[in-house]
Amino acid sequence: ARAEMDIDAALRWIKPSVREMGAYTLKPTEPRIKLNQNESPYDLPDVLKARIHAILADRPWNRYPPFVASNFISAVSEATGWPEEGVLVANGSNELIQAVLAVTVGPGVSVVIPEPTFTLYRLMTDVNGGTVVSVALTDDLAFDVDAIIRAARDTDAAVVVLCTPNNPTGGALSENEIRRIHDETDALILLDQAYIEFGGYDGIPMLADRPRLVVLRTFSKAMAMAGLRAGYMLAHPALAAEVHKAKLPYNINFFTEVAAAEVLRSRALLAPMVAEISAERDRIAAELARVPGLRVYPSDANFLVFRVETDAITHTALFDRLLAEYGILVRDVSKYPLLERCLRVNAGTPAENDAFLDAVRTIMTEAG
Ligand code: PMP
Repeated sequence: ARAEMDIDAALRWIKPSVREMGAYTLKPTEPRIKLNQNESPYDLPDVLKARIHAILADRPWNRYPPFVASNFISAVSEATGWPEEGVLVANGSNELIQAVLAVTVGPGVSVVIPEPTFTLYRLMTDVNGGTVVSVALTDDLAFDVDAIIRAARDTDAAVVVLCTPNNPTGGALSENEIRRIHDETDALILLDQAYIEFGGYDGIPMLADRPRLVVLRTFSKAMAMAGLRAGYMLAHPALAAEVHKAKLPYNINFFTEVAAAEVLRSRALLAPMVAEISAERDRIAAELARVPGLRVYPSDANFLVFRVETDAITHTALFDRLLAEYGILVRDVSKYPLLERCLRVNAGTPAENDAFLDAVRTIMTEAG
């Protein structure tokens, strides 16, 4: 009976902008070595996990979490020096991208997005019925700052999204470039700094005298907490109060609240791992650059993009062989404009990176 249902009678009410969209998906796989999602290769230190467990064990689980996640918010404020009234916390920074675009975007509203980049900005602009104004990165995968400014001015854009360091390409904007984009446009500047601990200019000091700047941070990468989902936003308190209206009550469960606050206050424990990951990224870049037939793009993040530039092997064959023969999963980013024949790999542990580099060298040598 189900098969005969007239599902079109239901689907006609879905917004056309949504019907036309593709969904954000990722095929689940459990490889031996996982270098495809830019996570930390290291779990949180045991001492920190134990402290978090102890706090959680004492809490009543039948009660709602605090209405305002004040412990998490005050930890963010202490760590960043930004006032609590200008801090929003969420269940991953994804949720804050959604909230910022929910309160700014609607039909007739333009959002400037340098691409290729993280696809959620485009998805959320589309869901809200807005117009994506795409500005291509240069052939070297750098930001085209003049084109971004021009596009924002020409379309009277409400938001310019700057993902710096950029996912999936790894390039970052300088202080001067961020300042120019803010000061030479009228838009809100959504500065997504999910990877800032690994390199690039940290925009927080610029917040003080730039009311249109919004900074996003995540706990999913350098803070080794992707499984718990936490992120935060910093902006002028009046702007934060508006974005707050698009957030769901009780979106932060108390696992997240407790863990994020503890991890942030103990971040010195994580610093050596972050430093190692950045150094490993540089080592992977240098080693890959030596492999004939590969071109490596510079990165300030915990991952990098490389292109298969020889006809001896396709990027698809390299991807497949890494997985099938070595159990190493990287990300195929070749479907993005400008990234034809490119793969993305994140830095793992030194041993994982050695295994990856050895496998690539072997496969590329065999291909000739
Ligand atoms: N922004 C960027 C640029 C990302 O790459 C990611 C994760 N892929 C996110 C935001 C989302 O992070 P979170 O886990 O905090 O939702």
